[in-house]
Amino acid sequence: MTTVIREGWTTFKSIFTGMGVTIRHFFKPAVTELYPEEKVELPKGARAKLYVNIDDCIGCNLCARACPVNCIDIETVMATSDVDLGKTSTGNPKRFWLTQFDIDMAKCMYCDLCTFPCPTDCIYMVPEYEYSEFDRTNLVYHFSDLTPEKVDEVKEKAEKEAEEKKKERERKMKEKKAKAKDKAKSKPKPKPKPKQPDNKKDDEES
Ligand code: SF4
Ligand code: SF4
Repeated sequence: MTTVIREGWTTFKSIFTGMGVTIRHFFKPAVTELYPEEKVELPKGARAKLYVNIDDCIGCNLCARACPVNCIDIETVMATSDVDLGKTSTGNPKRFWLTQFDIDMAKCMYCDLCTFPCPTDCIYMVPEYEYSEFDRTNLVYHFSDLTPEKVDEVKEKAEKEAEEKKKERERKMKEKKAKAKDKAKSKPKPKPKPKQPDNKKDDEES
């Protein structure tokens, strides 16, 4: 009989304790996020997704070198002398075409190490987290804004200019060598030194 009364009291107490918690929270503001209807606001400095402001990129490759998992792929082509690519918003001169700037977010481990060495602060994390994909290849983000035709064009021009510069260097080198040879030929030959009297022989004779 005592056991039944004790158990009944425990049950009654548990119900009222639970209901007490429910009633207390009933009058407090709700904390539940109704995602995806309501978007979660990420805290400042959250690492969610990388973004590159390609207009400010100078193609220095520092971000790619800092990445511990090699998920940044950059290919640059030197701009030819007839092209002025201008400057970044931070005043750094742009000397390279960015023919490729890919970030594989499937490989990225969100360490943020790539953002620190950037001299123009053009690579940074953005508070965007809804980018899941069924196909992993869709997680490779392409930031270069050049069309394939433009890439071919700049590569061709750069190769041509590099070839011309190489030929010019070789021509100058040949000229320099030829001049040095002529100079060596026209240089008067040093006169032979007068022979020293053989003192040793004289000593022996005397
Ligand atoms: S956040 Fe880290 S892993 Fe991701 S690209 Fe930058 S350096 Fe690489
Ligand atoms: S470090 Fe910055 S400027 Fe240099 S290649 Fe990377 S994003 Fe571009």
